[in-house]
Amino acid sequence: MQFKDLQLNKPILKAILEKKYELATPIQEQTIPLVLAKKDVIASAQTGTGKTAAFALPILQLLFDRQDAGKKAKKIRALIISPTRELAIQIEENFKSYAKFTNLRSTVLFGGTSIEPQKDILKKGVDILIATPGRLLDLHKQDYINLDYIETFVLDEADLMLDMGFIDDVKKIERLCPKEKQVLLFSATMPNKIVELAKSILKNPVTVDVTPKYSAAESINQLLFYVPKQKKMELCLHLLRNTIKGDILIFRRTKFGVGKLEKMLKKNGYKADSIHGDKTQSSREEALNKFKNKQVNILIATDVASRGIDINNLDAVINFDIPNIPETYIHRIGRTGRAGKTGNSYSFCAADEKTYIGTIENLISTIIPVETEHPYPLDPKAKPEVYIKKGSNVKKGRKSAASKKNKKRWY
Ligand code: AMP
Repeated sequence: MQFKDLQLNKPILKAILEKKYELATPIQEQTIPLVLAKKDVIASAQTGTGKTAAFALPILQLLFDRQDAGKKAKKIRALIISPTRELAIQIEENFKSYAKFTNLRSTVLFGGTSIEPQKDILKKGVDILIATPGRLLDLHKQDYINLDYIETFVLDEADLMLDMGFIDDVKKIERLCPKEKQVLLFSATMPNKIVELAKSILKNPVTVDVTPKYSAAESINQLLFYVPKQKKMELCLHLLRNTIKGDILIFRRTKFGVGKLEKMLKKNGYKADSIHGDKTQSSREEALNKFKNKQVNILIATDVASRGIDINNLDAVINFDIPNIPETYIHRIGRTGRAGKTGNSYSFCAADEKTYIGTIENLISTIIPVETEHPYPLDPKAKPEVYIKKGSNVKKGRKSAASKKNKKRWY
C-alpha cells in the first residue's frame, strides 16, 4: 500500500518522500489507520518491521491537526516509553525526521547522562517525549514533567520492559497520565504477563499481529555449526577469514564473553567494538556510531544491550552462544535480512546447547540447516563438557577416565 492511501497529511507525506520509503510495511498498513481513528492498539511486531513509523507517523498527524493556536508554551501530548537508551534515541531520531516539515518538537530522556540539559529542554516545552522509565520518573518527581496533557501513550518493546523489571515503573507512569488517552502497546512476543498488562491499561484494544509469518527470518540464510565449546573462537576466526564478510553483529550471552571475544578479534587484526551493560552510555554510543560509520565492521553485544537497536545493511549475525530463550534467537537474527535484503546468520552450538535448538526450531517452524563442512566438527555423540566450579568440590558431568584427562575448566 502507498503512504498516500493512508490518509496522511502533506507535511508527513513530504517527510516520508524524503526518507525514500516506497510502500508502507504490513505493520504500518494495519496500525496507521487504527491510530488515526484513536483506537487503542496492541501490536506484535519486532524491530525491523517498520513499527516505529507505524506509531510515529499517525501520532505526529494527530498532534499536528490539533494544535493550540497562538504561542502558548508547548505541552507534552505524546509519551513514548522505551526500555533502553539506544532504542529511545532511535525512536526520537525517527520522530525528528518524520516531523521535519511540522512545527512539532520532541525530546528524549534517558539515564546515565547529565540531567541538567534535559531540564533545560523540558522548560522550553516539547510536544512529544520519548523516555526510559527511570529518568522519566526522576524528572517527574522533580516537577520538570507534566503528564496531565498526554493524549497518546506508547509502550515500545513491552516484553523487554518486562524482562528488564520495568513493569511496575510503567504502571506508575501510566497512572500519572490522564485516564482518557489512547494507548499503543508494541511487543515482539506476547507472554501472559504482557497480555495481563495490556488488559489493565488498554481499552477495547485492536490486535495487530505481523509476527507469526516471521517475515524477517524468511529472508535470512540460517546456518548451524555444531562445534566443541573450546573451538568456537577458532571457528569464528575461520569463518571471518573465509566466509563471513561485511558488517557483522556477534552475540554473546555474557558481558565477560563479549570482552573476551573482542580482545581475541582485535589481537587477530579485526576491527571490532562492543556494547554491553557495564559500558558507560557514551562508550556504548561511541561503539554504535563507529559501527554505523563503518570505522569497525564487527560489533559484539549482549542481548539486552543490543535489542531494539536499528543497524541497517547488516550482512551477518553470529550467535556465538545459542540463546536459551527461543524468542531471543528471532530478535538476534532479525538484525539482518531487513528491508528486502538477504541476510545471513551463523549459530555456533556446543554439546550443552543442543537442547535449545529444538525449541528454537519449533518456534520458527523451520529446521535450521547444519553446516558440516568446517574444520571443528563436534563429535555427534559428545556430551556436555565437564564443568567444575572453582573453589568447590562439586563436580558435574561425566567422570570417565577420558574426560578426566581432557577436562576443561570454565571459570
Ligand atoms: P523499525 O522496525 O521501526 O526499527 O524500522 C526499521 C527500519 O526500516 C528503519 O531504518 C526505518 O527507517 C525503515 N523503514 C520504516 N518504514 C519503512 C518503509 N515503509 N519502507 C522502507 N523502510 C522503512
